[in-house]
Amino acid sequence: MNTIERSYPPRDGLRLWRLRQVTAFKCSRCGEGKLSRLIASDKSEAHLYCNGCYGELVSEQNLVRWPIEVRDEGFGVVDGATSDRRE
Ligand SMILES: [Zn+2]
Repeated sequence: MNTIERSYPPRDGLRLWRLRQVTAFKCSRCGEGKLSRLIASDKSEAHLYCNGCYGELVSEQNLVRWPIEVRDEGFGVVDGATSDRRE
C-alpha cells in the first residue's frame, strides 16, 4: 500500500503528490508509462500526470515556475527537460 509522503498545494486544478514508494502509472497527457514517486492529477483524480507534464501544464498556464526540487533518486525517470527546472 502506497502512502503519500507529501502533498503540494493545488495549482489551477492540478494536484501533485510525492509518494513514499516508486509507483508505476500511465501519464494521461504524454501517454507514457512512468515510474516515479511524483504523481500529479486533475481535480477529479480521473487522470494522472507525470512530473514532466505537470511542470509543462502549470507553466503553460502562466503560473509559477516548477516549484519543486525533483530528485527521483535514480529510478529511471527520463523527464530530463523538466527535472532541472527548480527554484
Ligand atoms: Zn506525462
